Parts: sequence; structure tokens; C-alpha cells
Amino acid sequence: ATVLGIETSCDETGVGIVADGRLLGAALASSMDEHARFGGVVPEIAARAHLESLVPCLDAAFADAGIAPRDLDAVAVTSGPGLATALHTGVAAAKALAAAWNLPLYGVHHLAGHVAADTLEHGPLPGRCVALIVSGGHTSTLLLGDLARDPIVHLGDTRDDAAGEAFDKVARILGLPYPGGPAIDRAARGGDPDAIAFPRGLLGAGPDFSFSGLKTAVARLVERERRPLADVAASFQEAVVDVLTRKAVDACRAHGVRTLVIVGGVAANARLREVAAARCAAAGLALRVPPPALCTDNGAMIAAVGDLLTTAGAEPAPLTLPITPTAPLTRATCPA
Ligand code: ATP
Ligand code: MG
Ligand code: FE
Repeated sequence: ATVLGIETSCDETGVGIVADGRLLGAALASSMDEHARFGGVVPEIAARAHLESLVPCLDAAFADAGIAPRDLDAVAVTSGPGLATALHTGVAAAKALAAAWNLPLYGVHHLAGHVAADTLEHGPLPGRCVALIVSGGHTSTLLLGDLARDPIVHLGDTRDDAAGEAFDKVARILGLPYPGGPAIDRAARGGDPDAIAFPRGLLGAGPDFSFSGLKTAVARLVERERRPLADVAASFQEAVVDVLTRKAVDACRAHGVRTLVIVGGVAANARLREVAAARCAAAGLALRVPPPALCTDNGAMIAAVGDLLTTAGAEPAPLTLPITPTAPLTRATCPA
């Protein structure tokens, strides 16, 4: 199926067009720079930026794909979770386009989009796999079946901060710019990951995650002693990566799954990719991680879910589709 995807849940305006599992064209605009001086995303600024960027991004994605609206089979949009003001912009636009073009509409769960992003690079997911979602607002291990049909089972979730949130908060403590993940990734290069033994939250204590103690430990260290920035960044990053990869591999073992897929913005992290590759190889697991540009928010990942839903013959959403800013991840779609 040929599907248009629209993503406006946070500060990225993403439009993507996917046909039968293949990325045809995409466009992305970000209001990240406008939020930088506030140290985090300001909802009203994000919504205004989406409004300004959406039509230019739609035009650019169609031009990139070399297709016309009449070639589409469906429109998919992130209807949750995310910032209410930001979600509204994309959902209103998607409804208008679906109505004008007489196409089915799908309200996609943003995190299902993160998972589906990998299919654009590596093809269909196996019938059963474990996904580690590590993003700005979420950190979970999931047991996945058929993404378009089956319920999604949570194996472990964070009890406090998300992994990306930990990167962003620690970057702030270290005086690095927002967003913190890429800044720490860069700052850690050449640093000693064993320089400081930061705590590994909940390691050996079940499948859940905890990163707030780690954040506090970094803050205390910085108050107490002067250590090279590269060492602090590398040691913090190592603590996060160590816990994420151990728990993800454990989840695969516990559920007899042979494939691990790591997705979400933090999956762009170079050290996470490196350690995950080594640990999966040692455990005899196939590892799938999307290229960095498909790890962070984009429209193509939403189109990819829409493609799977359309092909599976899933029931489209009504034009009254609500936004669901706190939608739990139980299926690929959000409640209509
Ligand atoms: P969610 O998907 O949970 O709703 P989000 O959409 O804001 O949140 P993403 O776009 O998936 O999050 O990811 C953004 C997060 O990824 C930020 O916290 C950012 O710091 C982090 N991130 C991006 N690149 C890297 C990197 N190279 N290393 C570590 N973290 C990174
Ligand atoms: Mg973002
Ligand atoms: Fe995201």
C-alpha cells in the first residue's frame, strides 16, 4: 500500500511516503533550535512551528517521492502520545487531507512508528521479536508479534526517567546544549567509560529500568570534584548503555526470542549500537537498529505503520479521531 505519514508529536514536523515497505520520499523540519534556550520543548512554540512547516513539508515529500495524492491508499498520522498542542496540528491536517482525498485515516501510536522505522531499512520484522524502545519520553522492552494485528506486551518499563530524558538532564548538568543525547555522544568520544563507576539502576532486579539515581549521581560528582568532561560523559553513557543492553538481551533469553530491535532517538547513540552489537553476537541474537536518521522522530515511520495497517486490512479511524496525549502502547494504533 502507498501511504502518507504525518508526525507532529513533539518538535519535529515529519512527512513521509511509504509504498509496500519502501521509503519513497520524506521531509523533516525541526523547531529544536527555538527551544534550545529554554532547555526543553515549549509546547506553544512547537505547535506554531508545525503549523508553519506542515504544508512545505507535504510539498517537499511529494516532490521527493515523485508521486501525487491520487496515488495514495491511506493517510496515517501520529495521534498520540505527545504534546497536545503539537498532536492537534498534525491530526487536523491529516483529517482534512483524508476527507479531501477520500482516503482512509489511521491514528498511529508514535512508539509503534519508532518500531516500524526499522522495517524501512531491514525489511519486515520476524513474527516474534523483542523491541527495546529508548526515546526522549519512553524506555521499554516489548514483546512483539505482528505489529499491525497483535497486542503489544510490555516486559519492562522505566520507573522514573526515560533514557533520552536522562541524557538530556545530564547534558544540562554538564553544561552541554539541548538536545543532550547527541551532545553527550560527541563529548564522550575519547573519554574513559570506566573512569567513574556510576550506579546501574535496577540491574539484576527484574526487567524494569530506573535512571533518576544515575542522574543524581552525576550531579553529586560534578558538585564534588573536577573530572574531565569526556570521562564523565563516557562513564554516564556507559552506565545507561550497560543496563539497556543487558536487560534487552535478558528479555530475549527469557522469552525465547532470536531477534532484538532497538529503536527511538537514543538508538542513534554510537556506544549503544556498539555494545548492543557485541552482546547480541555473544548471545547468538540477530540485532536490528535503524540508521540514525530513522531513530529520531520522522514522518516515514508513521507512514510505515500505515502501510502495515492498510495491507493487514485494519479498520480505519473515523474523522472524529481524537488526540491521545498519554496513549499507552498496547497496539500500533491509538484509541479512536
Ligand atoms: P518519545 O518518542 O518518547 O515520544 P521523543 O519523540 O521526543 O520522545 P525521540 O525523537 O525518539 O524522542 O528521541 C529524542 C531523544 O533521543 C532525546 O532525548 C535525545 O537526547 C535522544 N538522542 C538523540 N540522539 C542521541 C544520541 N546520539 N545519543 C543519545 N541520545 C540521543
Ligand atoms: Mg525531537
Ligand atoms: Fe519519538
